[in-house]
Amino acid sequence: MKFIDLDRQYDVIGKEIEERMHRVVESKQFIMGPEIKELETALAEYTGRKHAITCASGTDALVIPLMALELKKEDAVFVPAFTFFASAESVVLAGATPVFVDCDSSYNIDTDNLIYQIERVLKEGKLVPKGIIPVDLFGQPADYDKLNEIAQKYNLFILEDAAQGFGGIYKGKKACSFGNVSATSFFPAKPLGCYGDGGAIFTDDDEFAEKLRSVRVHGMGSDRYDNIRIGMNGRMDTLQAAVVLPKLKIFDEEVERRNAVAKRYTENLKNDFVVPVIPENKVSSWAQFSLLAENKNQREEIIEKLKEKEIPVMVYYPVPMHLQTAFRYLGYKKGDLPGCEDYADRIFSIPMHPYLTEDEIDFVSEALITVLK
Ligand SMILES: *Cc1c(COP(=O)(O)O)cnc(C)c1O
Repeated sequence: MKFIDLDRQYDVIGKEIEERMHRVVESKQFIMGPEIKELETALAEYTGRKHAITCASGTDALVIPLMALELKKEDAVFVPAFTFFASAESVVLAGATPVFVDCDSSYNIDTDNLIYQIERVLKEGKLVPKGIIPVDLFGQPADYDKLNEIAQKYNLFILEDAAQGFGGIYKGKKACSFGNVSATSFFPAKPLGCYGDGGAIFTDDDEFAEKLRSVRVHGMGSDRYDNIRIGMNGRMDTLQAAVVLPKLKIFDEEVERRNAVAKRYTENLKNDFVVPVIPENKVSSWAQFSLLAENKNQREEIIEKLKEKEIPVMVYYPVPMHLQTAFRYLGYKKGDLPGCEDYADRIFSIPMHPYLTEDEIDFVSEALITVLK
């Protein structure tokens, strides 16, 4: 069994993907070909955002807006500690300082702890609070009503990290439509993936969108050899746009299937494990289906026993950001963010993709329950 089975998706739309890729190869418009514009229009329409700007990866989709915001080292950007490294790495790449926030039982940013961390930074007086990067972890949108309230009160920008969240919904609004600017990734294993690296940035602000487009191409001004700011080479390949376009057409159906898979897992496992709970007003895109073991030892046993049955299990994430070696210079220690430290020891994720059969879901569930007996 595969953790994410891209072959089965290829069986459905492989022909169309090959045809679209072939057309790009024939046209030789590998950089900023017409498929880029076509995809950007489709993504803006899908998310309800005014502007969608494709870029080279999900990491660039975070770095480009942070560069466009012209941050300084003393600017604090609040990031959940329970996330993939890029959410926080991007802050440092853009020249600012990340401040880590604990997560709650949804695995997303804990808004009470966020307020605590903002107040702590204000009281210490060394850093200036500038922004928040909420992460839609595992596919569930963060709590944007509360986050908007906090952002307004403290005058902070919101950069939504929807690398895992594309396709999710909060109160009728799609992921990538929250905050001042949003970022997603088309890494192959994400809910909407390409066949390499890719990403996109979303905003409703015309002026900011222009800045994002400029940073994406070497800080370009009126033409290619007029450079008005420091930027990067952050363009998405036309070939990757040709892969995402056919995938986007069947994406809603895939999100529905993921939700059906999650529902069956939940029914099977809710009496034996801590299962994810998605509130009524949200839809998850189920980038991951994560469970909690009782402790680290039990998690090891589960991983071992499932491996014997050739069921892959992954741990997202074993080390929270504030305890990462690369962030040692920030001076955090174990015990600073106890919620995510506990989850990091107990969490594990089981196979999740739109093409899992009911038999496979039941096979995985039974294997899990057997370990406990
Ligand atoms: C995958 C991921 C990223 C980075 O995306 P890449 O396309 O791999 O650069 C950023 N944030 C989160 C939460 C992710 O899961």
